[in-house]
Amino acid sequence: MSAIIIDGKQVAAAIRSELKSNVARLQKLAGITPGLAVILIGDDPASTSYVTAKEKACAEIGVYSDDNRLPADCTQDKLLKLIDRLNNDPRIHGILVQLPLPRHIDEARVIMAIDPNKDVDGFHPINVGRMVIGEKAFLPCTPHGVIQLLQRSGVQIAGAHVVIVGRSNIVGKPLANLLLQKTASGNATVTVCHTGTKDLASFTRQADIVIAAAGRPNTITADMIKEGAAVIDVGVNRVEDATAPRGYRLVGDVDFETVRHKASHLTPVPGGVGPMTITMLLHNTVQAAANLE
Ligand code: NAP
Repeated sequence: MSAIIIDGKQVAAAIRSELKSNVARLQKLAGITPGLAVILIGDDPASTSYVTAKEKACAEIGVYSDDNRLPADCTQDKLLKLIDRLNNDPRIHGILVQLPLPRHIDEARVIMAIDPNKDVDGFHPINVGRMVIGEKAFLPCTPHGVIQLLQRSGVQIAGAHVVIVGRSNIVGKPLANLLLQKTASGNATVTVCHTGTKDLASFTRQADIVIAAAGRPNTITADMIKEGAAVIDVGVNRVEDATAPRGYRLVGDVDFETVRHKASHLTPVPGGVGPMTITMLLHNTVQAAANLE
């Protein structure tokens, strides 16, 4: 079998085009331009490039982005004051604080300070709680992106056995919750594996859909999946490569070259889940603005 390679860039482009139309409609009918405030603390290169990509994506679909860059030694108090100002700024519908934060800042405290109605990352406990009980909420971007990729690639989620490898608060746990909801995009039977799981392969081999979010290359190899399973690779890992211009290349958690001959569907890294994360952030920002309509 040769897997269908799911093109995350293409799926993301289709959703962004739908969002662009929604933004134009909001502006025309309600005079609202969705606004996203991005807060970056320090100058970590990876975080800086994520923030730049988010701001560029906003501009492409007509979302106003408000760039807030603070030095690495910025106090927690100063950050909380900025969040408070943005919570009360009517031009801003979504607030994103780029994580991770410097060690002297309490991440949980910062997330709690964001108005849940502007929490477009979906990390505030109010949104997490709403999601778990199946109420309308801002869904966390990467898990929501994974579900969109599956749905738009025609992979049947309802009734499937989904095995997720990873239980983090930003990927594994919310994904498991979304997939087990009694909804059109859920209704799966879900197993969540982690480092305490004994014999990981015995679980992944039973799966109709395997989602790898471990942050470790080659966590999923061909012998660990059943023939025809759909495999979504959330992992992004740097591996040394002297032939690459920067001395490293990005790989996922899945052994792409062997799994592609056994899976029915497979996402590449890069170009799979990655483009979906920013897209679902845009989706949440437009949703936040539309709620005011
Ligand atoms: P994380 O917080 O480090 O969590 C990793 C999870 O995987 C943990 O639950 C860990 O188990 C589990 N795990 C690690 N090695 C394992 C193994 N060998 N067998 C079974 N379980 C294992 O990471 P994360 O934030 O969820 O991110 C996961 C990966 O996705 C990373 O590579 C990250 O860069 C990537 N990511 C990509 C995007 C995107 O937009 N493409 C977004 C977010 C994250 P324990 O709980 O027992 O430690």
